[in-house]
Amino acid sequence: MELDRMDENDWKYHGEGNKSLVVSHVQHCRVLRLLKYPAEDSENPPQTAEQAFRQIQNIVDFTSNVMSCLLGEKFVHSGEVVRLPLEFVRQLSIKIQHQRPAWRCDKVMDIYSGCALCLPNLTSPTLHQPTPTPPLCIEIKPKCGFLPSPKHVSKDIKTRVCRYCMHQHYKVANGKWKRRSLYCPLDLFSGNRQRMHFAIRHLIEEPQNNLKVFKGGQCIYSSKEGSDESPDTNSLLHHLRPYFLRGNNRVNGHMTTKAVLNDFIQVLGNALLSAAGGDGGQVTDRTGEGRSFCEASLFNRERIRHGSQGLPTNNILSRILQTQMLDSLDIEGLYPLYCRVEQHLQDFPKDRTGLQIDGPYDQNFLEKVQKCSMEDDGSVEYAAAKVHQYRIAMTAKDCSIMVTLVPSGEEEDDDEENEKARAFSSSVSVLDLDPKPLDSVPRQLRLDQKIVSCYLRTGGTLP
Ligand code: ATP
Ligand code: MG
Ligand code: MG
Repeated sequence: MELDRMDENDWKYHGEGNKSLVVSHVQHCRVLRLLKYPAEDSENPPQTAEQAFRQIQNIVDFTSNVMSCLLGEKFVHSGEVVRLPLEFVRQLSIKIQHQRPAWRCDKVMDIYSGCALCLPNLTSPTLHQPTPTPPLCIEIKPKCGFLPSPKHVSKDIKTRVCRYCMHQHYKVANGKWKRRSLYCPLDLFSGNRQRMHFAIRHLIEEPQNNLKVFKGGQCIYSSKEGSDESPDTNSLLHHLRPYFLRGNNRVNGHMTTKAVLNDFIQVLGNALLSAAGGDGGQVTDRTGEGRSFCEASLFNRERIRHGSQGLPTNNILSRILQTQMLDSLDIEGLYPLYCRVEQHLQDFPKDRTGLQIDGPYDQNFLEKVQKCSMEDDGSVEYAAAKVHQYRIAMTAKDCSIMVTLVPSGEEEDDDEENEKARAFSSSVSVLDLDPKPLDSVPRQLRLDQKIVSCYLRTGGTLP
């Protein structure tokens, strides 16, 4: 990529989240991830070009020095900051505007700084040989996979119903989504195949912003916020059918729709369970802790036939879960420590740098977080380390997993058991690993209170 000769016609709209907009190169397996600002600020960028550069460099550092160590470097791509010609960015923003979903247009793409994050395009893997059908990529935003400990929470419901399930009621009550999703992260993170199958099925039924499917680099399945219609599952199955015309589920040479869906979920579940970032083997079984079931999940516990499986230790889901669990005090237990840090920073503003509140996200930062003692000695260092841990956990609760399934060109074999596993080779990456700012802590506390009180008012009564 020659940065001085950029042409907007080489790039196309790829997707966006709440904080950034992504364009992909039409030929090379690259994406550019650009910052977004609230539309009110569009005439007046909230930060200078140098601050934008710093913000993106912070993302790169946080991803490579902190998240990559916690999640496993095999899964993480930190990318690099690039400076783009402003004219290119302006033309690009005009070109892609009409492809953006209306519900995302409360924010505009940053056209002032010329800075972006350049990453490999995870939905268009480089292929070593041609494949019969284009690669499939499934993006899952799994959200928080555990219940907080009763020690730190003021409302008992938080120890029984998971945050995602409570948040669903809040989102439906506020009109953000028309229907509640029956996906429960605790099922996905359980490591139990039946529960995982159940979770993935509900992600497909109501993807919201937790599931997207890409075929050959194009998004073919996702939800539209506030829309009355569910996404078209039949069209997804139509895309998937050619990938699953093997196996033992054929009825007179034709696979039922249900069989296509089951095979797809099974292949995806296998990919999630097999993705290990080091020596695997051991199993983390948390069922004994009584914190691994959410009362709002419709999965019937009695259906677990094969005892309790758990997640293999170095597995991607297990690494994400362990990182999420750095939030050991819950927002309620953390908030007083956040206040201690804030008070200290008001009294000693210069300590902001030494405490590494806004970075740099280097080795030293990671060590502070990993060596943080269990006991509160009343110091600001302890409080800052716990706040850092909480912010890292928030990143792990907000990240996405990208599963790539590359169909193998191999001939079919009669051995039906192994067929599905061999029909694809899979790989897994984690994306969206931005550090969360300090002021997200008080916002999280307010949101938590709203979600819990909404659930206590309406919980269980919504469809
Ligand atoms: P969120 O609102 O979830 O915090 P965000 O604004 O931080 O999102 P990302 O999730 O990083 O932005 O990117 C938005 C979307 O762009 C992703 O959901 C994904 O579909 C796509 N995307 C991001 N990075 C890549 C990549 N490296 N390769 C392919 N697609 C990507
Ligand atoms: Mg995202
Ligand atoms: Mg994000």
